[in-house]
Amino acid sequence: AAKQAGRNRFHQFDAAQERARREQREQGLRLREALAQAQFVLFLQPKVVMQTGQVVGAEVLARWQHPERGLLPPAAFLPLLDGTPLEIDFGEWVVEAALAQLERLLDAGLAIPVSINISAQQLQHPGFAAWMVQCLARHPRLAPRLVELEITESAALYDLPAVAATLAELRALDVAISLDDFGTGYSSLTYLRRLPMDTLKIDQSFVRGMMADPGDRAIVQGVIGLAQSFGYQVVAEGVETKAQGQLLLQLGCAHAQGNCIAHPMPIDAFIEWANRWQPPAEWQRQNSEDYL
Ligand code: C2E
Ligand code: MG
Ligand code: MG
Ligand code: MG
Repeated sequence: AAKQAGRNRFHQFDAAQERARREQREQGLRLREALAQAQFVLFLQPKVVMQTGQVVGAEVLARWQHPERGLLPPAAFLPLLDGTPLEIDFGEWVVEAALAQLERLLDAGLAIPVSINISAQQLQHPGFAAWMVQCLARHPRLAPRLVELEITESAALYDLPAVAATLAELRALDVAISLDDFGTGYSSLTYLRRLPMDTLKIDQSFVRGMMADPGDRAIVQGVIGLAQSFGYQVVAEGVETKAQGQLLLQLGCAHAQGNCIAHPMPIDAFIEWANRWQPPAEWQRQNSEDYL
């Protein structure tokens, strides 16, 4: 009887695995369809100089306009793409679509860089830098310095020398590199030392925690200090309150992104927003003597 029960369990396990595999296949098909039917859209979130209100960049963030479920955030579909061949197709679509949006920004008189999130797999895909060269060549109006690629620390984990070479190749074109979610991955300091880059983005978890938690505040201060020592720009992400912005200014971080400034939005709304946004008076009043 025990033997029989064991066999049944085994069969159940088998059936569950088979179901999971089938679901994965179906999700893959749905995502491929979504890409083919242009159901993905890019939202833009501004990057600003807090004190002056100058809009200095826009991060492109993907959304899935799902026919039944509505607008879905990356958390609802990126994990399904992760590690599949479709991840590369999706990533290439994002870059192409981001460059098209950059052209629209230029047409609207906004010559600001767009920041594009690049997945680990995409960054390490053979020929990524060469593909970027071709992509930029198809858009002769776009200066490469208007393109910034955001990578995460985990992205570089597998083969640091190869990633460093790819980044160096891109920077030689004048494409900027930003290290996203800084401090949340592994070996942050090694990455800083070995990867060519231009900007560090302070992860939003530290920004959220820094008002109440001295440890988070110390990390924010540390990242700002590191960026200054290495000669990198620093951007705080996830700024949700005026008080957070003020503290960041006091700590020496001038650039920020976050819902307190603007949520990610479709490009038309972005252009309209950029033409009328004013920073909070508290940020404008912040004088440079207050900087550490
Ligand atoms: P990320 O690159 O770190 O982007 C910042 C995320 O924080 C975005 O979430 C943005 O909407 C959100 N955010 C901005 N300001 C605030 C704020 O004040 N408070 C809070 N709570 N959140 C804020 P989103 O759009 O859901 O994207 C999540 C992540 O998905 C991104 O994190 C990025 O890693 C990834 N992602 C988004 N679009 C793409 C893409 O086109 N390609 C790739 N490979 N990854 C993408
Ligand atoms: Mg990002
Ligand atoms: Mg981030
Ligand atoms: Mg993130």
